[in-house]
Amino acid sequence: MRVCRNCGVAEDSHCLAVWLDVPDGCQCVASTWGDIIPPICDAHKGADAENCGTCEHDFDCHAKRP
Ligand SMILES: [Zn+2]
Ligand SMILES: [Zn+2]
Ligand SMILES: [Zn+2]
Repeated sequence: MRVCRNCGVAEDSHCLAVWLDVPDGCQCVASTWGDIIPPICDAHKGADAENCGTCEHDFDCHAKRP
């Protein structure tokens, strides 16, 4: 059998890597997104604890933007 050089998991039980482009400053858990993460909008819309009404990113994603 073959094992992954990085994590030692056997080839047949190793997950296939799925790469996501994460926008700069995004603090979201990447696995909560689907295949595409939309860009972070300029201003968070809605309550701080809720995802943005415009771009669906967390409040923190907007706060950390330069
Ligand atoms: Zn691996
Ligand atoms: Zn985000
Ligand atoms: Zn937003």
